[in-house]
Amino acid sequence: MDIALHMASMLKTLRQEKGWSLSQAAAYTGVSKAMLGQIERQESSPSIAILWKIATGFNVHFSLFLPTENHQQRPVFSGPAPQMTVEPLFPYDKQLRFDHFSIHLAAGASSQSSAHDGGVIEHVVVIEGRLSLQVGDEWYNLRAGEGKRFAGDIAHGYYNPQDKSVHFHSLIHYPAPKA
Ligand code: MN
Repeated sequence: MDIALHMASMLKTLRQEKGWSLSQAAAYTGVSKAMLGQIERQESSPSIAILWKIATGFNVHFSLFLPTENHQQRPVFSGPAPQMTVEPLFPYDKQLRFDHFSIHLAAGASSQSSAHDGGVIEHVVVIEGRLSLQVGDEWYNLRAGEGKRFAGDIAHGYYNPQDKSVHFHSLIHYPAPKA
């Protein structure tokens, strides 16, 4: 399935389930009503940062927005500017509660992430190249084979300081739903 179509129908379904208007969804996600409307009408390709805000606002896992019916052809998601691509390595599993992404960040590129929900733990492992990871006020320079685990509930960012692309994995563990 086409990624824009999948995102549009997923967003509409989530809003219906919650019974939220576009304005309410904007308030819960921090994404403008105009942008949400454009995504639902498939008029806009949201950035990864915006998609994360939507996932956090609706309290769902990120990969929900990536179609994964056909595992032979895993979707590669990149926002409007293809500086970063995110590819799920495994379909989401309700029992295991994690997403595992293979991510490529272009030379010199950066990507900022707003805080995820409380209890979300992120594990970043560099496969090839170098990654500068910012978590709150802390910076970590990771080389191939090195990793960092951090609580994802504060703003964080990924920077590629080099002149070739960096490849890393991000494993994101979601907390169990509150009873
Ligand atoms: Mn993150």
